[in-house]
Amino acid sequence: MSELQSMQSAYVGRFAPSPTGPLHFGSLLTAVASYCDAKSQNGTWLVRIEDTDIPRIYPGSETHILQCLDAFAFEPDADIIFQKDRLDLYQDVLNQLQQQDLVYACQCTRKMLGSNAIYAGTCRKLKLPFDHQAIRVKVSDQLICFDDRLQGQHCSNLAHELGDFVLKRRDGIINYQLAVVVDDYLQGMTHVVRGADLLDNTERQIWLGQLLGYPRLSYMHLPLAMNAQGQKLSKQNLAQALDPTQAPQLLQQAIAALHQLPVELDCPARMLAQAVAQWDVSRIPRTTQLAQIYQ
Ligand code: GLU
Repeated sequence: MSELQSMQSAYVGRFAPSPTGPLHFGSLLTAVASYCDAKSQNGTWLVRIEDTDIPRIYPGSETHILQCLDAFAFEPDADIIFQKDRLDLYQDVLNQLQQQDLVYACQCTRKMLGSNAIYAGTCRKLKLPFDHQAIRVKVSDQLICFDDRLQGQHCSNLAHELGDFVLKRRDGIINYQLAVVVDDYLQGMTHVVRGADLLDNTERQIWLGQLLGYPRLSYMHLPLAMNAQGQKLSKQNLAQALDPTQAPQLLQQAIAALHQLPVELDCPARMLAQAVAQWDVSRIPRTTQLAQIYQ
């Protein structure tokens, strides 16, 4: 059992940014909500950098994340972990799944699959060697449901909507779905608070966790901040990078965007303390998008 698990806090939450671009206002909403939710329940709050997808790492974004955490006074309760340092752990879990015959090697290329959104399981029976192939996990024809704290009940039948999905790519990169499930378990996570863009990933993660015998987590998917073009703020849509020198103003805006009671403009640590004291999940809109426009 890891050091973190032995802390045995009733609530362990996290902020898990990917360094694929600088943090933006949408990332700040996730950081604020995950932090306030954990702290208002006397929980532990951790930070994990999700940097397994090396080709997508954007130079300098890791430094920007760390700068922002500091400037916004987000202090994690343990050392920040970096997924790129933990590849052996994910491989161990893949080996375990292989021994249980729950995964298989797949030689289908994106080109071969064409526009088919649902993988037909073509390679399931081929028993290909695992080296230099994508690794897919088997899914079964069953409805997986969870009760999101904001979005209500969300269900998916992975066999009908997705098919067996990739855990490790042909180029050796560990897929986000696997890394997130393994780390949430190893870090003793109990609560996930993140953007509603990840709502559809949750059943995959629940399925994987179930195969591995991990306990179920509580989920809360936040409404997304949208730009004037009706797109969610994202690195791909060139959302403005958070300016660490504007931390108090940005914090105030983020707290307001989550429909919380206003906090006074002050140093970020005191503003966060006030936001924690006033934190009220029932005030957050139960939608997947915020009405106001951001940039
Ligand atoms: N790393 C993911 C992202 O930046 C978030 C993962 C998660 O919260 O589960 O979008």
